Amino acid sequence: MCSARCGPTPSGPVPELPEVRAHAERLGVGFTGAVLAGFRPISFTALKTFDPPADAAVGQALQGFSTRGKLLRMQFETVNFVIHLMQGGRLRPDEKQSAKPRGGLARWTFDDGRALLLTEAGTEHRAGVWVEATDGPEAEIVAALGPDADTVTIEQLTEALGAKSMRVHGFLRSQSGIAGLGRRCANEVLHRAKLGPFTTTGKLTSDDIAALHRAIGEVTDESLAFERGNDEMVASKDRPGEVHNRTGEDCPVCGDVIREVAYNRYTVNYCATCQTDGKVLADNTTSKFLK
Ligand SMILES: [Zn+2]
Repeated sequence: MCSARCGPTPSGPVPELPEVRAHAERLGVGFTGAVLAGFRPISFTALKTFDPPADAAVGQALQGFSTRGKLLRMQFETVNFVIHLMQGGRLRPDEKQSAKPRGGLARWTFDDGRALLLTEAGTEHRAGVWVEATDGPEAEIVAALGPDADTVTIEQLTEALGAKSMRVHGFLRSQSGIAGLGRRCANEVLHRAKLGPFTTTGKLTSDDIAALHRAIGEVTDESLAFERGNDEMVASKDRPGEVHNRTGEDCPVCGDVIREVAYNRYTVNYCATCQTDGKVLADNTTSKFLK
């Protein structure tokens, strides 16, 4: 009989910028200043780069954690470790330091005896660690990102929206347009901005873009404030929101029902009255509601 104490359990979506940022802040409070004694990949798929060598940071004090998009960055003097948690990945203090930790991908040990362990639930092992030199180019996975959602300017947003014609919900989740948002924030942002999720980016007016920019700022700020009140990353269902995962409930703004378009990997939630002039979006997939 297994319980949560056995180790990581399969989990939901990839943590978004607010969750990752709050987690980075918590880790930073505990570990900044600790001197790295060693880095060891436990799974052979964990370390995604070979140059510069991860050992370059041994003997250096941890300068802190930062984030870029949904990525965590563990900063030392000459190299950074960039960590992508993907869906089930977690980076946590490693009290047991067992030889074969469940779901273990990589371990950082510090000369005060403490350690941080990167784990990933499930068997896919898509989470990973990239090493970049602090005086060199950013890791490829970072360089591919658009500006962070919490600091993107309206000029940057306008340019990114114009760069490629696509549905605005997909744009918000793309990471290359702007970075850090996932399906939950995309749903909340578009509801807040009163924009249909399938609106084409090239058709947005300057008023639409201003509303989108404002909504991105508000949703990321509010989400970050919520995450900062938690001791750990919480389950997606516990997060506050007006439309995400609320299919069938009343829209808190107008009272219409929250609808969904369900895909295999995610669900688009929206309010037709607030966002699509009452138009119900085609759902050719698996919606159990509102047929
Ligand atoms: Zn509504």
